[in-house]
Amino acid sequence: MRFDIAKSGSGLTYEIRNIVNVANELKKRGMDVIWENIGDPVVKGEKIPEWMKSILSEIMEDDLSFAYSPTKGVLSTREYLAEKVNKRGKIKITPEDIIFFNGLGDAIARAYSSIRVDARIIMPEPTYSTHFMAEVLHASFPPNTYRLNPYNNWKPDINELERKVKSHNSIVGILVINPDNPTGFVYSEETLKEIVRIAKEYDLFLIFDEIYHNITYNGHKTVQLSDIIGDVPGISMKGISKEYPWPGARCGWMEVYNIDKDEKFCRYVDAILQQKMSEVCSTTFPQMAIPKLLEHPEYDKYLKDRVRHYEKLSNIAYNILKDVPYIVTSRTNGAFYMSIVFNEAVLNNKQTLPINIPEIKSYVEKLTGGNIEMDKRFAYYLLASSGICVVPMTSFFTSLPGFRMTL
Ligand code: PLP
Repeated sequence: MRFDIAKSGSGLTYEIRNIVNVANELKKRGMDVIWENIGDPVVKGEKIPEWMKSILSEIMEDDLSFAYSPTKGVLSTREYLAEKVNKRGKIKITPEDIIFFNGLGDAIARAYSSIRVDARIIMPEPTYSTHFMAEVLHASFPPNTYRLNPYNNWKPDINELERKVKSHNSIVGILVINPDNPTGFVYSEETLKEIVRIAKEYDLFLIFDEIYHNITYNGHKTVQLSDIIGDVPGISMKGISKEYPWPGARCGWMEVYNIDKDEKFCRYVDAILQQKMSEVCSTTFPQMAIPKLLEHPEYDKYLKDRVRHYEKLSNIAYNILKDVPYIVTSRTNGAFYMSIVFNEAVLNNKQTLPINIPEIKSYVEKLTGGNIEMDKRFAYYLLASSGICVVPMTSFFTSLPGFRMTL
């Protein structure tokens, strides 16, 4: 055929979904699959309360919920969200500083594709797949990263971040995911202030993916970008997929801070908006629901109960896994994932793919090109032998072998 796929897209695989294909094959053979791989609370079995469903029915009564919205999103919802930021008292924004997207995944793709291909946004390692995939798809380069340290409860290596920022002029922005996916790490105010200091000192903008900002436990609270940013230009990314939870709505937004402080940053945000214009707007319906859902008298208790549930699961998982030999496990304090890495003893154990079902073995080899990392071998083995489906750690752009499981 007279076509070839785009170079930037070749070789990229979305492992969070790849392993699902194998799990589904096993399910067809009658195996009970335990889905520890996905970040969709609804698929994991959480029930949507009736009051939420009635709000959605009410909104559907308004014909405007069927209409296009302005490119930046429904004005009344942007007013509501801007007011929420302003009430925190540290920064002032207007509804014009908020832009809606079709899911945060969409916002992330546009954040990377709106900078020059030779400019980089340095990101944590491991990192949530959509960020590094957006970077690789846009720039055809592996991302520039700073390490989260599994031997220090996934605390970031700030010295490494500063060293890299200092020595690579191509770095124009810093990404923080707080609370973090895949590690469940919650950044302290002190660490965040250090990151803001670095951004200010080296003239960088900040991107904070805060989709889990209301999902923290074990006494932790998210210090948000708007609390500590001062006069540094930055973007907070938020969404409804995890918190409400409504991942099928495909609805997320950017809050742009200090747009007037830097002319290049202003042009960057404008470039994002120009891209957004080409698709007219994001889905109107979920945007209209946001203020009504958040202001419902049941909402706070509903969220609190869900978070308490994650806290319980996280502590059960940690207490079981912390004493298991050959792995390094950290307590999680936010989001709903736990990442476990193998220690040196396991890394030295070189063996071939230990999956006994020939068709599954060949399917896995086809998916992975036969060149399968140690932790993928482990994940597929765990799946084929027990039905437990986890995500291999190397799928999060890291050489640390291990796996991520959902609480
Ligand atoms: N950012 C992080 C850190 C996530 O974990 C996810 C989804 O898992 C997203 C963004 C994407 O969210 P959305 O469903 O809004 O595209």
